[in-house]
Amino acid sequence: MKVSLIIPCYNEEGNVFPLYEAVRAAFDGIVPSYEFIFVDDGSYDGTGEKLRALTETAEVPVKAVRFSRNFGKEAAILAGLNAASGDCFTIMDGDLQQSPSVVVEMVQYLEDHPDCDCVTAFQENRHESPVMVFFKNGFYNIINRVADTEFVNGASDFRTFRNNVREAVLSLPEGARFSKGIFSWVGFDTHYIPYTAEERLSGTSKWSFLKLWRYALSGIISFTTVPLRLPFFFGFGTLAAAACAAVLGKSSNKRRVPVLLVVGSLPLFALGVLGEYIARVYQESKRRPVYLIKEVLDNRK
Ligand code: UDP
Ligand code: MG
Repeated sequence: MKVSLIIPCYNEEGNVFPLYEAVRAAFDGIVPSYEFIFVDDGSYDGTGEKLRALTETAEVPVKAVRFSRNFGKEAAILAGLNAASGDCFTIMDGDLQQSPSVVVEMVQYLEDHPDCDCVTAFQENRHESPVMVFFKNGFYNIINRVADTEFVNGASDFRTFRNNVREAVLSLPEGARFSKGIFSWVGFDTHYIPYTAEERLSGTSKWSFLKLWRYALSGIISFTTVPLRLPFFFGFGTLAAAACAAVLGKSSNKRRVPVLLVVGSLPLFALGVLGEYIARVYQESKRRPVYLIKEVLDNRK
């Protein structure tokens, strides 16, 4: 089984060669056939040069797809899936937080279980700040309550899957992609294995709190329309409250101001929710490509 390693990279100059070496060492004598598919997501450090040097010296197939600018990790994953030619596909980060030995474990599991289509690694313990853990847990609680698709807390994009899963994922045409949801939505038999994220080898995380917040919001909007229907329930609630107040007829002036503020803010909130969805419809209607390629480096050509 030939393994395609899909590796999105955004300013990972210090990690390209160490990752290559670490994979070589972990796969040696165990995984006979594999290729590297690096996707340079518009890096402005030396990642491009490192990838060029690697394709010139590597002893195994290495392909590097270079974007014209930063399109985001989701776009990089999509480009990697399009460029890969293996029998099974692994998505892993380019910063060595995800150990190649876990990839070996995932590939072996697929080889031993012909019925299994996808092996997903999940973090048992997050080594992150309590605030981040709080928000991440909150996200999973909310999205699992409102979306039909299941989102496994701690499951990352770190996974290995067969071509049937790859084709299913590629068949989804949406531009705003949320892989955690997409992989869950397409279904197939998925096995979960625990892993512990290592420290990033070099460089810094590319996810600010704001970027994560927008990503989480995008996930919610992509996989549920429940927020669109919420104003109906709010409206129903305030109507019922107004009816009660009319019947009881003793509204005090002191209470009126905060009540008016709450009631007045609800249509604004509803408009905001509508705006988010309309913005998404507008974006998708433009049908712009998810990414643009500047060049492809390939040591097999
Ligand atoms: N990444 C990317 N494009 C981006 C942001 C991140 O390709 O716009 C890559 C990044 O180079 C890394 C992976 O996605 O290989 C995960 O990013 P990061 O390590 O910054 O995330 P964290 O591990 O902190 O969640
Ligand atoms: Mg990382």
